[in-house]
Amino acid sequence: MSEISTLLQERIAEDGPLTVAEYMGIALTHHRGGYYMTRDPFGTAGDFITAPEISQMFGELIGLWCAVAWQSMGMPETVNLVELGPGRGTLMADALRAARAVPAFQKAVRPHLVEISPTLTAVQKETLGRLDLPHAPTWSETFAEVPEGPMILFANEFFDALPIRQFERTDEGWFERLVTVDPAGGFCFTLAREETARLGPAPEGSIQEMSPESLNLVKTIGERLAAQGGAALIIDYGHGESGYGDTLQAVRGQEYADVLGQPGDVDLTAHVDFEALADAAEMGGGRCFGPIAQGHFLMALGIEMRAQALLDKANEAQRREIMTAHHRLVHPDEMGLLFKALAVVAPGMACPPGFEAS
Ligand code: SAH
Repeated sequence: MSEISTLLQERIAEDGPLTVAEYMGIALTHHRGGYYMTRDPFGTAGDFITAPEISQMFGELIGLWCAVAWQSMGMPETVNLVELGPGRGTLMADALRAARAVPAFQKAVRPHLVEISPTLTAVQKETLGRLDLPHAPTWSETFAEVPEGPMILFANEFFDALPIRQFERTDEGWFERLVTVDPAGGFCFTLAREETARLGPAPEGSIQEMSPESLNLVKTIGERLAAQGGAALIIDYGHGESGYGDTLQAVRGQEYADVLGQPGDVDLTAHVDFEALADAAEMGGGRCFGPIAQGHFLMALGIEMRAQALLDKANEAQRREIMTAHHRLVHPDEMGLLFKALAVVAPGMACPPGFEAS
């Protein structure tokens, strides 16, 4: 049995069933063997592939988005360029490379990475170490430790990894879904004995999800932008409007797995509720644009032109790779529609690039 399974069983034996959020938090980020803490899960040989790992075009366009955001902030002399959950550091590296096109921006940028995993922090240091940067990047495990000052922040597939709570509607009301041990020694779902706050009318069997950690974080980001200036770009998979449904999923080796099987060895994620995120950011004082579909966002930023420029210099094998990557990023049947982009900016700031039609 994995260290995380043992740890979860001990916790349940001591304190009783865990909320789905507690289970997810331990399985993903516990310092003793949480999924992200000990491995590099990305790429074709890993568990899943993310947009920056598919193509450099993704990070380059985001780098230019940041440069334009900096211009509409009035070009502050220094700006924190913050990434939440940077994985291998590929997105930050591609964004910083693209930033060279705007030298004054490149000079202003102080890169800062928020990462909880020591293993991935080491990978990010190596990735960014290959670039010749005017200012050395810094790291922290939490957003609270980001240095003071105006900031431009981006996060790709970060919020889907933050823990969610789930509530189920039965004929007697809403009850929180909990995780407990089953007689065979594995884990199974159960319901809390006490009814939770009423969540509104819904058919029996409905599941309502909520990510308090995501909402608190995005509210803090809104407060920070309102107080110190800047812009944030959140890209993830999820829905534009809040609704009911169980979206918790486990992935291993690029295939779906049992959500309660192999904790610590499978990636666990849930759809991001963009409507709830936007409301929380605005509660903090930020102004939101979007969410809009990733495909539309990347096209508005000029992915066609960027792809064409790369194609012009490519050999036959590279051409096929560029076309496949472009298709995966923007096509509605691939990542183009399910993935969405949300911008949060300081009040008074202009609409950021890509969101004009939103
Ligand atoms: N943005 C990257 C990686 C996405 S995977 C990409 O697009 O490829 C999620 C990332 O968030 C990983 O780097 C993971 O270690 C990190 N992470 C997960 N939970 C975290 C938390 N609570 N605090 C900080 N980082 C976290």
